[in-house]
Amino acid sequence: MKTLLRTLAAGALIAGLALTAAASAQDYPTKPVTVVVPFSAGGPTDTVARLIAEVMSKDLGQQVVVQNVGGAGGTLGAGQVATAPNDGYTLLVHHIGMSTAPTLYRSLPYNPETDFAPIGLVTAVPMTLVARKGFEPNTLADLTAYIKANGENVTYAHAGIGSASQLCGMLLMDALDAPMTTVPYQGAGPAMTDIIGGQVDMICDQSTNTTSQIKAGEVKAYAVTSPERLANFPDLPTTAEGGLDQVQVTVWHGLYAPAGTDAAIISRLEAALQTALADATVISRFAELGTTPVTAAEATPDALSKQLSSQIVLWRGIIEAAGVYAD
Ligand code: ASP
Repeated sequence: MKTLLRTLAAGALIAGLALTAAASAQDYPTKPVTVVVPFSAGGPTDTVARLIAEVMSKDLGQQVVVQNVGGAGGTLGAGQVATAPNDGYTLLVHHIGMSTAPTLYRSLPYNPETDFAPIGLVTAVPMTLVARKGFEPNTLADLTAYIKANGENVTYAHAGIGSASQLCGMLLMDALDAPMTTVPYQGAGPAMTDIIGGQVDMICDQSTNTTSQIKAGEVKAYAVTSPERLANFPDLPTTAEGGLDQVQVTVWHGLYAPAGTDAAIISRLEAALQTALADATVISRFAELGTTPVTAAEATPDALSKQLSSQIVLWRGIIEAAGVYAD
């Protein structure tokens, strides 16, 4: 009898917990939502996250607060979200680094495919090769010749191993067979400050972090890493046009929750993300920064999950061929 009562009590407790979870998913969100950006403030991932967070806040009726957790090429912030409570109140905006980290970091403390619940893709951003104003080369041809001649005397800034800027630099050095001296930062924001200040020579960084600086003449631009030229800079050649076919990177961003987050919460966040990506201000701001939001069909858990899996396979091949690891 006692055992039966205990079983019934346990059953009631489980049913109660399930009801509470369902109710909290229905009411979600009832308090501010934190979006972790695994790079410093003022960089390209931060810019994208803040733009969508503003509209998502309005849509969800709660503040969506961006928290910058930079370090270790984005793996520190991502690791923090992997172990956060899966209640929908801690999310992650990360980029292509989600797919490169499992190969670059042999002791990565999380699995991007099993420790996260994908919500949707956000945008895909081309990169640009830029340098400090006073840097000697003036054209892409000058730049490649200069790097070949000066190699380690050239300083190359990046946002840590696993960041897009590091990947792009790795492809460039590989293509030119000329290692530069790399200078890691916690994000491309502070790296750009040092390029503008002339403390470091160059970076390959997303158009979302370089467009205004190129327009203002604060940095010199040499090329864009996408297959097409940019509408904002029609005179800027593509890397392929300059004979650097291997230096092609488009940085895709995704929104994630910790694995096991209630499906109803994921659907609510997916809807808020889609609202943000269809917002006129977001679209025009993205265009000014040389990018476009993804379509509604891509801002889905399924599309992000497929993108992540296929990019893990793609980058594994490239990284293993280059033989570059972070640990
Ligand atoms: N996305 C940049 C990079 O990977 C880092 C950042 O967003 O600050 O280089």
